[in-house]
Amino acid sequence: MKNYVIGIDIGGTYIKSGIIKYDGTLLATDKMATPVDNGVGEVVHTISCLIDSLIKQTGIKRKEVIGVGIGSAGAVDRVRGEVCFAANLGIQKVPLADLVEEKTGFRVKIANDANCACVGEWKFGNGKAYSDLILVTLGTGVGGGIIIGNRLFEGNCGAGGEIGHMLLNKGGRQCSCGRKGCLEAYASATALVQITLEEMKKDKFTKLWNVLDDSKMITPQVIFEMAKTDKLAKKIVDDYIHNLGEGLVDLCNIFRPQAIIIGGGMSAQGENLIAPLRDYIANHIFAKETTPPVDVLQAKLGNDAGVIGAASLFVS
Ligand SMILES: [Zn+2]
Repeated sequence: MKNYVIGIDIGGTYIKSGIIKYDGTLLATDKMATPVDNGVGEVVHTISCLIDSLIKQTGIKRKEVIGVGIGSAGAVDRVRGEVCFAANLGIQKVPLADLVEEKTGFRVKIANDANCACVGEWKFGNGKAYSDLILVTLGTGVGGGIIIGNRLFEGNCGAGGEIGHMLLNKGGRQCSCGRKGCLEAYASATALVQITLEEMKKDKFTKLWNVLDDSKMITPQVIFEMAKTDKLAKKIVDDYIHNLGEGLVDLCNIFRPQAIIIGGGMSAQGENLIAPLRDYIANHIFAKETTPPVDVLQAKLGNDAGVIGAASLFVS
């Protein structure tokens, strides 16, 4: 009986791996440093080592494994099993699925990492009840995935669904993609911290300075906490919700999902973030209460989303 699937999540720092049962239960994980700029051969070798480690840890037989799902950053052509472009790995036009199949003997499927996280949340997380949903991940950047009519929407060569790079403010803050004013430049965790540091320079009385005086870092957690008592922190959080809310309303107006699921590091703020976003969307969405509401939820899979999501490429 084939009952297990392996998931591989290729990130800029680590290649993470895990083995799941067909019902989504994560049985074991492992990770190794991503061999950046050493060519694709090293990436394939690292994946192969991780697979061997998972099999050894769990004692699962190779013939019980259905296949290996891989999530990779960048543009990934799922049909051809090809990484079209992944800047952080320094690879272009690489048939990664075939290469890992040849090396390991397992069947391999591959997709963009954010899309994998979306599929994972849809199959095993808080998206299970929905046929139409959007996962928005708020971390170093802003990413996500789009499920329409029980299918993942990826665009040509898997290069679509780049939620973070829709324009929020023409000529606005510099974005990592080269344009100015993208949603990511306002709504990522990185942007929130950067904006806060900039605003603090203009306000020497804010209590946020006490945080630095105590040798602590300005983090999204600190900013949300301070917003309860500090005027500047409150304004920064209100602006953050407003900007992110505007982006989410656009997504709702175009795709009209049943649910928006918030993942990534920022989702740790829980209802402090989710509740105001829920209100913002309800108050600004097209046709408002004459149409069904959009549910706004926190993602469930957390740090394991990438690995479980990649494995779920093999779960129908
Ligand atoms: Zn951008």
